Amino acid sequence: MKNTKITLAHGSGGKLTHELVKGLFLPSFTNTVLSQLGDSALLQLKDMNLAFTTDSYVVKPLFFPGGDIGRLAVCGTINDLAVVGARPLFLSAGFIIEEGLEMSLLEKVVCSMKEAAVFTGVDIVTGDTKVVERGSADGLYVNTCGIGIVDNTIHFSTALIEVGDKIIVSGTIGDHGMAVLSERESLGFSPPIQSDCAPLSGMIGNLIASGVNIKFMRDPTRGGLATTLTEIASTLQYGIVIEERNIPVKNGVRALCEILGYDPLYIANEGKVVVVVSEKDAVNARGILRQDEVGKDAEIIGEIVDEPSGRVCLKTAIGGMRIVDMLVGDQLPRIC
Ligand code: MG
Repeated sequence: MKNTKITLAHGSGGKLTHELVKGLFLPSFTNTVLSQLGDSALLQLKDMNLAFTTDSYVVKPLFFPGGDIGRLAVCGTINDLAVVGARPLFLSAGFIIEEGLEMSLLEKVVCSMKEAAVFTGVDIVTGDTKVVERGSADGLYVNTCGIGIVDNTIHFSTALIEVGDKIIVSGTIGDHGMAVLSERESLGFSPPIQSDCAPLSGMIGNLIASGVNIKFMRDPTRGGLATTLTEIASTLQYGIVIEERNIPVKNGVRALCEILGYDPLYIANEGKVVVVVSEKDAVNARGILRQDEVGKDAEIIGEIVDEPSGRVCLKTAIGGMRIVDMLVGDQLPRIC
């Protein structure tokens, strides 16, 4: 490892996170399941295919427009299961609580977790509580793990991706990161930017059930759409081209990004999915996503091309081309 100390950028989901995963965790824990580096681990037990995933939540502040750490913790894990084609079933919830936290805040967080779990039909079946001294944590951290079942007929992989396949994003990008940032910095936007934090398992389930030829899915969380697409491209012999004018961005998010010098392509989402789908099914797939409230702004934003292999290119609104790279640095720490 190049760095001798951990920096905030190691938790950004971008380049340094990848270095940490590929330089330390992957070689230390080496096995064929982990090496897939999917949103969930895919496990075969007898004739059952299970998906298993975990995530920790350290968002600051704990409450923001459109959600809170509890809703985020349940939705994030449900979405990591859903994007690998699993039906989410069971969750765990681990709480690391700082001494002095208002009980009413914890109750609100737990209530959000319950609501999101009931909405998606998952049960929180096991958990853990730890309390640390005042000053040792920032109020509350939450960890969730999730288990889901993957139908035997489902197999999504970047290895199925071909030239001509289309790339769909299920709605506007950058909402979550900008909502948390404006709340944290008390930027007082009116109306406030709302996080997109939402469970996607219903919408994704409908998309799968429709029979469209899905090749691969991923939720563009930390590191944003750009990082997710570069992750996908890095596994391909092909390239990805996306068109800036087709990428949905809310006006408020675009304005705040411009003021602060951020690129919405790199801002986290918590209620969006990127779908790579065969060309012939793309319009149909977009229509199915749009039938769902969380997918109403779905757009076809790009396609798989021959060249440049392994890279993502952006056709800009004014007709230029630029290479899109993975997130470098810690653009927005602690947004999830
Ligand atoms: Mg994910």
